[in-house]
Amino acid sequence: MMKIINGKSISENVLEECRIDVENLKEQGVKPGLAVVLVGNDPASKAYVGSKVRTCIKLGLHSLKIELPESTSQEELLKVIDQLNNDSEIHGILVQSPPPNHIDESAVVLAIDPAKDVDGFHPENVAKLALEDPSGFVPCTPLGCQRLLAEYSIDTNGANVVIVGRSMIVGKPLALLLMAKGPLGNATVTVAHSRTKGLEKICKEADILIAAVGRPKFLSREHVKEGAVVIDVGINRVDDNSSNKGYRLVGDVDFEGVAEICSAITPVPGGVGPMTIAMLISNTIKACRNSLSD
Ligand code: NDP
Repeated sequence: MMKIINGKSISENVLEECRIDVENLKEQGVKPGLAVVLVGNDPASKAYVGSKVRTCIKLGLHSLKIELPESTSQEELLKVIDQLNNDSEIHGILVQSPPPNHIDESAVVLAIDPAKDVDGFHPENVAKLALEDPSGFVPCTPLGCQRLLAEYSIDTNGANVVIVGRSMIVGKPLALLLMAKGPLGNATVTVAHSRTKGLEKICKEADILIAAVGRPKFLSREHVKEGAVVIDVGINRVDDNSSNKGYRLVGDVDFEGVAEICSAITPVPGGVGPMTIAMLISNTIKACRNSLSD
């Protein structure tokens, strides 16, 4: 029987755990705080920021939303980050990606205090992930994928995992996470990208196939081995006049075709997406807890 991996419902369980953690921390006299910085007017970024802020408020975290105009200079943005680094009520800082073209994203990431880097993009946290040092922050989307596999008892130990996509946000950290030593890792990981030769054949070897490409319905049933588990990280907006928004969201996987042959698959929306926000809140709580022992 093919299973639909219900990320929405798992994320609600994670958020309920987070709500209890927030209450306990408040009893200890500290309220976890997340600052989300948005530069410019990208509609998708605005929507992501809105849902992060709403989730914080719902769970009782301190939430600070800083919206800066498109024209904000690099220097001004770095000043804002510096203030947040020194704000004792803020435990997590996130600058919504992508920033406008004139902003150097890597300089922004470097400016964030690694102890508040709940996105896990700072080189110190990237190194900790590679070194399998659990004190660091792991990027939220890979963490969410790993949690989904764990919640559905999908064993990664010795499994052939193929990840299509090598970004620093999804593909690369997810590869590190799933190949790490430990019960939620120990996979044999292959990472494919735009220069990969024979993609179809490589994907067909996968026990667990993960798509993080950014192209609607890029992977079809020809890429999937019968009985494989398919995790679709992609979120693509495609025009749809029948929707009142004028678009709908589709993943990187042709869901209908692939669902007929795989053993389990994440839908889009309602798969990996909600897990990303849940892991962001979980990382913010971790940052807050760490601040207590400083
Ligand atoms: P990037 O554009 O940074 O990376 C895309 C990757 O796909 C690159 O490694 C690229 O290869 C590879 N790729 C592109 N074309 C091909 C091809 N023809 N064959 C094989 N590989 C290819 O995207 P992100 O990693 O940031 O995001 C990927 C998707 O996940 C997007 O749809 C994004 O919206 C979504 N996403 C979803 C999140 C969630 O919460 N669910 C969070 C973050 C992202 P190369 O490196 O060679 O260019």
